[in-house]
Amino acid sequence: MNRELNISKLDQNNIWDIVVIGGGASGLGTAVEAASRGYKTVLVEQSDFAKGTSSRSTKLVHGGVRYLEQGDVALVLEALKERGILIKNAPHLVSRQEFVIPNYEWWDAPFYTIGLKVYDLMSGKYGFGDSEYVNKETTISKMPNLLEKELSSGVIYYDGQFDDSRLAISLAQTIIDYGGLAINYMKVSSLVKNKSGMVKGVRVTDVESGEEHKIKARVIINATGVFADEIIKMDDPTAEKTIVASQGVHLVVDKKFLGSETALMIPKTSDGRVLFAVPWHDKVILGTTDTPVSETTLEPRALDEEVDFILNTCSQYLKSTPGRNDVLSVYAGLRPLAAPEQEGKETKEISRGHYINISLAGLVSIIGGKWTTYRKIGEDAVNNAVLMGGLKERLSVSMQMPLHGYMMGVDENSHLRWYGSDALKIRTLIDRDPELGEIIIENYNFLKAEIVWAVRDEMARTVEDFLARRIRLLFIDAKAAIDAAPVVAKIMAKELGQRRKWQRLQIEDFTNLAKGYLIE
Ligand SMILES: Cc1cc2nc3c(=O)[nH]c(=O)nc-3n(C[C@H](O)[C@H](O)[C@H](O)COP(=O)(O)OP(=O)(O)OC[C@H]3O[C@@H](n4cnc5c(N)ncnc54)[C@H](O)[C@@H]3O)c2cc1C
Repeated sequence: MNRELNISKLDQNNIWDIVVIGGGASGLGTAVEAASRGYKTVLVEQSDFAKGTSSRSTKLVHGGVRYLEQGDVALVLEALKERGILIKNAPHLVSRQEFVIPNYEWWDAPFYTIGLKVYDLMSGKYGFGDSEYVNKETTISKMPNLLEKELSSGVIYYDGQFDDSRLAISLAQTIIDYGGLAINYMKVSSLVKNKSGMVKGVRVTDVESGEEHKIKARVIINATGVFADEIIKMDDPTAEKTIVASQGVHLVVDKKFLGSETALMIPKTSDGRVLFAVPWHDKVILGTTDTPVSETTLEPRALDEEVDFILNTCSQYLKSTPGRNDVLSVYAGLRPLAAPEQEGKETKEISRGHYINISLAGLVSIIGGKWTTYRKIGEDAVNNAVLMGGLKERLSVSMQMPLHGYMMGVDENSHLRWYGSDALKIRTLIDRDPELGEIIIENYNFLKAEIVWAVRDEMARTVEDFLARRIRLLFIDAKAAIDAAPVVAKIMAKELGQRRKWQRLQIEDFTNLAKGYLIE
């Protein structure tokens, strides 16, 4: 997975079958689908893979218990099936996670017990385990930090958990394994149309070198999440808005605040949202919020009231509860939601489903979606693209297709598990150069060898790429990530052939960015 090599191959094909714009869940899933069906495929991402929404999720591979309550049965059925397919195809990246819902009102117990039985039934052969009503004592034994006042019982159920940006990297590697190209820091600046006005290519700018390229293709797929309307407007400046963005914030705190390996799910907070507390990378993620926003950016920032809402809600359920000073990292992401037909609908009520929009000029755009359903989104997008581009029909193989790094039986307690079978290659680097076996920063077991690996084999180009999305230190502990930046910059500079000035600028840029993940 070498950027220079990928760029050099760009001009080798005069006309590509499919160009995918956007390297988040939807774009990567689409390019994997296209490349694995044998279409000549290129994916271009303006920043790093998963820089946008796709590194900022709740990290759940789930059907969505809440969508069931909202009556979106089709979405839940689809997502539960995809959950089962993903754990089969990428067992190194997805784990089964136990959840508890505490019951405080007498009607909660039958309501959630029956609801989750329906959830189990809908999973069918893709089930993760049977849900179960449990009494107050068992609920407390599962979650000792839960406030006992008025607690009557609980319901246990199972869903999936994953590392979002690590899955993104595995998908980018899979595209390349199947002969496609995936290039980060390559921004689409305009669309190319033929004499009949059909979209038949893109103009891209290499963000690193400033060089321009024209990529011709039979069909272009716009998978740019909350930025989808920007690309749609390149095709038709009068096109109506298709996307609304809703911000979701998460706080990462020490695992002692959950005090359990079981995750907590509060189905209805004071303002009718869902709140999760989920163990992740030896910490706990608390979230999320649902705040409509009008500006779309790659680096959204948490609002003070969102942070307060999460902390206040936690204090209603947890005995020992985190305060602002306990927050190790705060991150925000923007959900790309399909603009509702009725004005004034709250973002939390908008479906998380996806649809494919095709313009008169043949631009195929993905609107909406969830990480969990990325494969199905890709399948739907490619099916439409095949028709639009007049490509030879080929059957999808992605349902039974192991992703890059596929490995059964990984040690879930080792941080190298996320690399799957590539972990062996990282160990080989250490065998050759034992210094690479040293840790990057105290209190965390990330190794210097991972920096070398990320540059050589995962297309990491900046200190941020490594600390935010190859290992997740920025999301786990922003202060530790700032402290780790000089070591990372030094090793990356050596690998990339960069000078001291580059190191200095990288450390500066990263420190400024990471300060936004700390709470003042
Ligand atoms: C707070 C929150 C929690 C969530 N939790 C979950 C969860 O637990 N489970 C789940 O299944 N889903 C979850 N989701 C939903 C899921 O994360 C998103 O649906 C998914 O990540 C969207 O992926 P995407 O590819 O559409 O968008 P993105 O990840 O934003 O990718 C779009 C990409 O397009 C690129 N791009 C834009 N313009 C250009 C251009 N001109 N040229 C090249 N590239 C361009 C951007 O840089 C970006 O990387 C959550 C979402 C949020 C916000």
